[in-house]
Amino acid sequence: MKIAIPTETQVGESRVAASPDTVKAFVKKGAEVVVQAGAGKGASIPDDAFAAVGAKIVPSGFGDADVVLTVRRPSGELLSSLKRGAILMGGLEPYGDKAGLDAIAASGATAFAMELMPRITRAQSMDILSSQANLAGYKAVIDAAFHFTRAFPMMMTAAGTVPAAKVFIMGVGVAGLQAIATARRLGGIVSATDVRKATEEQVKSLGAKFVYADIADAATSGGYAKELSAEDKAKQAALVAAHVRTQDVIITTALIPGRPAPVLITQEMVESMKPGSIIVDLAVERGGNCPLSRPDEIVEHHGVKIVGTVNLAGKLAGNASPLFAKNLMNFLDLMIKDGALKIDDADECIKGTMIARDGALVHPMFGA
Ligand code: NAD
Repeated sequence: MKIAIPTETQVGESRVAASPDTVKAFVKKGAEVVVQAGAGKGASIPDDAFAAVGAKIVPSGFGDADVVLTVRRPSGELLSSLKRGAILMGGLEPYGDKAGLDAIAASGATAFAMELMPRITRAQSMDILSSQANLAGYKAVIDAAFHFTRAFPMMMTAAGTVPAAKVFIMGVGVAGLQAIATARRLGGIVSATDVRKATEEQVKSLGAKFVYADIADAATSGGYAKELSAEDKAKQAALVAAHVRTQDVIITTALIPGRPAPVLITQEMVESMKPGSIIVDLAVERGGNCPLSRPDEIVEHHGVKIVGTVNLAGKLAGNASPLFAKNLMNFLDLMIKDGALKIDDADECIKGTMIARDGALVHPMFGA
């Protein structure tokens, strides 16, 4: 079995889909591992570190690989070079790009989009969304603190008191919970909101205030949120509008799978905030929770900075890569039986993530 780790080709992507630990584990299982030269550079993993645990460093050429592991969707060039039936596994970005999916199907690979991993306990160790969102939530607060012209903690000095920053986290999934914890550690006064009622206890257990409109619980059985009714959207917007104008820093993380991100902070709300306030919109890649945010831009509006950095987890590639790599390894382990690849179609995690096979799209959500 030959496992290949190509260098990521998407602009700004610093992560790599393997770590020395995962390569070592693959080699121990009898696999031949090839890593493209320089693949780990952005994550501060030199070629030598991969070679030291048994990987072969190659300039390119993965046409004979049985398994190709990637962080993001591979380039057309790599897709067209794959062996028919090769396993392709990674963050294949399945939403909103049918042509991209068709290209994956046309490669003839058996392709798994890790974003579609079911939200079941057994799948936690294979969940790239969780491992990456956790880091993104942390980095969002650090970036907010960097752009904020004031301090987070309260400081009492002989020259006067510095008030604590008021930080509001919108969307309390994996990223939001880490953002709450990070903002609390920095000394902010933290509040948070979500549309899933179960989050109230989690927010309170982290020492933050829960802000919740009287709306129907929007949790789905899959652990995600669904879109609110028009009436509930209006109730939530009224509550948020009143709260937002008193806040210094807002981190928005709200997502609904397969849908554009919900608009939570309108232009009017931004204009109600104090100059110098910061919004970090983690949902910017999916349209944004604030209509003013722009991918990879810092937009200044009425003195409020709206930070739209995409791929925040990728900015911590040194941590994000080993976690991502471990998620992939745990998933691939499901398909290795006695040193050989065997895909169990009945497995919930395999069925839930397989998007293409034998030249066709096979997932019910994406054109099968
Ligand atoms: P997500 O990234 O899809 O969304 C982020 C948050 O935004 C969610 O908490 C969601 O409820 C919230 N949101 C959506 N619309 C909103 C709105 N209009 N206003 C405010 N908030 C809104 O979610 P996530 O981080 O992936 O996590 C969702 C849940 O799944 C969490 O409870 C998490 O613990 C759970 N989870 C379970 C597993 C597992 O069991 N394998 C793995 C990962 C996450």
